Amino acid sequence: MGNSDSQSIAILGAGITGLTAAHRLSQRGHRVRVFEQSGRVGGAIRTENTGGWLVEAGPNSLLSGEPAVTALIRELGLTEQVVTARPEAHHRYIVRRGRPLALPLTPPALLASPLFSFNAKVRILVELLSGRRIRTADLSLEDFIRSHFGQELVDYALNPFVSGVYAGNPQKLSARHAFPKLWQLEQTHGSLLRGQLAVAKERHARHEPAPSVYSFTHGLQSLVHALASRLPSGTLTLGSRLDGLIPGARWNVIWNDGESTRTESFDAVIAALPAPALAALRFGPLGERPLAGLDAIEHPPVSSLFLGFRRDQVAHPLDGFGVLAPAIERRSVLGILFSSSLFPGRAPDGHVALTVMVGGTRRPELAALSPDRLLAAVRGDLAELLGVTGEPVFRRHTFWPKAIPQYNLGHERHLESMAACERTYPSLVIGGQARTGISVPACIAAGESLAARSVPAL
Ligand SMILES: Cc1cc2nc3c(=O)[nH]c(=O)nc-3n(C[C@H](O)[C@H](O)[C@H](O)COP(=O)(O)OP(=O)(O)OC[C@H]3O[C@@H](n4cnc5c(N)ncnc54)[C@H](O)[C@@H]3O)c2cc1C
Repeated sequence: MGNSDSQSIAILGAGITGLTAAHRLSQRGHRVRVFEQSGRVGGAIRTENTGGWLVEAGPNSLLSGEPAVTALIRELGLTEQVVTARPEAHHRYIVRRGRPLALPLTPPALLASPLFSFNAKVRILVELLSGRRIRTADLSLEDFIRSHFGQELVDYALNPFVSGVYAGNPQKLSARHAFPKLWQLEQTHGSLLRGQLAVAKERHARHEPAPSVYSFTHGLQSLVHALASRLPSGTLTLGSRLDGLIPGARWNVIWNDGESTRTESFDAVIAALPAPALAALRFGPLGERPLAGLDAIEHPPVSSLFLGFRRDQVAHPLDGFGVLAPAIERRSVLGILFSSSLFPGRAPDGHVALTVMVGGTRRPELAALSPDRLLAAVRGDLAELLGVTGEPVFRRHTFWPKAIPQYNLGHERHLESMAACERTYPSLVIGGQARTGISVPACIAAGESLAARSVPAL
């Protein structure tokens, strides 16, 4: 490793992280082989297009603002296929006292909003005056936000937002690791609101648009397929179970293709795997597991239930991104995305599509229900929150037993174990959703960085 001569690199995992790294390295002329245990590429990204319904089983949308993603989309010729969230879908609803109320996004809307009490509104405005504070220790996201805005904002803004992103528990998530940009804003500005305003001002000065939510005409699979289709033939090895890695001057990768055990040697290895798979990796003749500690990273289960209705079956105008349910409201759903409002082409004419998210750290037992029982469990929420009547005319259910890694308090010990493993084996690099951010854009940035670290350019 360490020069730009052609190298051979084994990449473990064909999710968006591994595919991005594979694309970049093969483009630079290196010989790449991607080992993927399942029979398909994309990992968590999974789109189905059937009978006019476009179903995202995993991630539904991306947030703009990550330069590596913008550049990759342009490079892959996907710019024309980008679809941004429809302007008429601008509301983000939060459930309060059993009703979906729009989250106020401007100061006048805040003053008029029934979502927050008078005291909470005063608390928000007072936050603008917060001074700089130096924190020496990490704290939970809940304590962090409470110290800025008070309990009501924790209950009716932080809690539902965290359910929408991590399906996690803000009392356990680390402020420093789960939302590093917020942590940084506090370090530099004191007030999170003043920090956000300063960021917006700088963006404006650079003539950059405000962050927006987007996908592709044919869904997020377009990104995955564009990456996979550019790889030289023979690069992807699907349906391969890794049996071990033997480090040395060159790495021997041992895998089983379903028929026999095979071995091939490489100059370097990129492990672009989720934490449980990293924890299970066996190294050397004794099959040691240097990353076994990563098994302690919590991964709550989530079920995604995509439901199609005739438009006249849903009373709500669906003029938004979706509705999120705070834990304090004791609903079955974590949230409901208004999928057909968000992007065009998600439902046939005269129909609407909703994506219901269930489970997470809040109700893990619900996520594992059969599709019929799950539908029965969320029927009340659909009726009361959105005025849904009758049976769905279309449905798809996806169960994610280990959906999203939780960057909980103490996460640095996991980061350190990955860094220590890289120090022990200098031609191994590790990254993806377990390390530098769970979002798809963060994973694309991770793929680029893994490629660059694996074979540094001269
Ligand atoms: C339900 C859900 C909703 C989400 N919503 C959003 C969203 O709206 N926006 C957003 O930005 N992000 C979202 N995310 C997060 C995001 O999709 C993931 O964090 C990201 O796609 C992870 O990419 P990855 O390549 O690092 O890992 P993965 O996608 O998990 O890919 C890892 C690959 O490694 C393979 N593998 C595992 N073990 C082995 C092994 N031993 N050998 C070989 N291969 C192996 C797996 O089969 C998989 O293909 C969501 C995730 C889920 C589950």
